[in-house]
Amino acid sequence: MDFQLTDEQRLISESAREFCDKEIAPRVRDNDRAGRFDRELASMIGEMGYLGAPVAEEYGGRSLDYLSYGLIVEQVGRVDSSARTVVSVQTSLVCGSIERWGTEEQKRVWLPRLCSGEALGCFALTEPDFGSDSAGLRTRAKKTDSGWSITGNKMWISMGNVADVALVFAQTDPEKKHKGLACFLVPTANEGYSSQEIHGKLGLRSSDTAEISLDEAEVPDDAMLGEIGDGFKVAMSALDNGRYSVAAGCVGICDGCVDASVAYAKERKQFGVPIGTFQLVQELIAEMVVKRDAARMLVWRAGELKDRGVRNTVETSIAKYYATEAAVECANAAIQVHGGSGYVDDYPVERYLRDARVTTLYEGTSQIHKLIIGRDATGINAMVPPTSGQ
Ligand SMILES: Cc1cc2nc3c(=O)[nH]c(=O)nc-3n(C[C@H](O)[C@H](O)[C@H](O)COP(=O)(O)OP(=O)(O)OC[C@H]3O[C@@H](n4cnc5c(N)ncnc54)[C@H](O)[C@@H]3O)c2cc1C
Repeated sequence: MDFQLTDEQRLISESAREFCDKEIAPRVRDNDRAGRFDRELASMIGEMGYLGAPVAEEYGGRSLDYLSYGLIVEQVGRVDSSARTVVSVQTSLVCGSIERWGTEEQKRVWLPRLCSGEALGCFALTEPDFGSDSAGLRTRAKKTDSGWSITGNKMWISMGNVADVALVFAQTDPEKKHKGLACFLVPTANEGYSSQEIHGKLGLRSSDTAEISLDEAEVPDDAMLGEIGDGFKVAMSALDNGRYSVAAGCVGICDGCVDASVAYAKERKQFGVPIGTFQLVQELIAEMVVKRDAARMLVWRAGELKDRGVRNTVETSIAKYYATEAAVECANAAIQVHGGSGYVDDYPVERYLRDARVTTLYEGTSQIHKLIIGRDATGINAMVPPTSGQ
């Protein structure tokens, strides 16, 4: 077992850190206050090669290993979870799915534009009535002479208002349940696609979040990603990678909490001494350090398995569950270290808490991840209640 990063991985992490501190950090507070999706920043992130880092070079990516991708995401997450959302959605959910399931033509049409940031994508799985229960989707794809007509509603879709292409999951045959699901590449300029911004979020305020409506949106046959019945597999393979990315971003939040808290504890004086002198303040910091390091190790383990091509759904769930809960706990503790100053946005810690909170909800709630981990440990599936008839 080798816990050392290679020289190249260290360099990738250091240059990502530099980029995030120089280019993202100065924009974060204003974007957060304004609730503004920063398209220019998304392009800059694309120019750095951070929107398709693990995608093969021949399709515009950087052919990076998953561990290196996780190191980039950690650095972006340390500075801004809204920007990290762009990286995670675009790279893991959208590009990753097209690269794995797409035809040569689909890869050539979409991947270079997505990896460079010229185009943005979104991943439209969740519906108003189907969140954790993603196999029961109602969005319907009906066969036409020339392709498919898609009708339905999608909820909580990151980048749904700014995307050029949406991966839309739809049911082709309700009787077949999850075996009838398919995934379609829907250009958002298509007639029948419309979206609305969701306002009033606790955090991730500069991340775009949409409610999408599909009203007989027409796509040709070759817009299908994979085949009829592959929809559930496309979604689950995408989420395996998306969850890894969310977890890596949360390691960044934990790290940011440690840095901010250590700096503040050394500078702020009470009772005539820096507050870092007090054992109870050190305890808060020590717990953050332990959680950050444990989360990082779990993310690296999942990344290493991905790089070796070994099945890693459970290890990814463990990393996602632990790192997201750790980020919430670290951010809460970091506010405590900062006292009243932690409650306003002069320091990043209140934003860390607001932004971390959603990570235990999306890409599988913490409960869903515990059920995946528990199912693996016991061999018993407790996800679907026996009375539900599914
Ligand atoms: C800001 C934001 C961005 C998002 N971005 C995207 C996106 O880009 N694409 C996309 O498709 N979706 C996206 N989502 C949706 C997200 O993935 C869902 O919110 C999530 O899957 C949970 O679904 P739900 O909200 O319907 O909650 P529900 O599934 O209704 O869950 C409600 C509660 O019930 C619990 N629960 C549900 N089932 C079980 C069970 N079997 N056992 C125990 N407890 C259970 C849950 O853990 C939770 O506590 C986003 C959400 C948010 C808030």
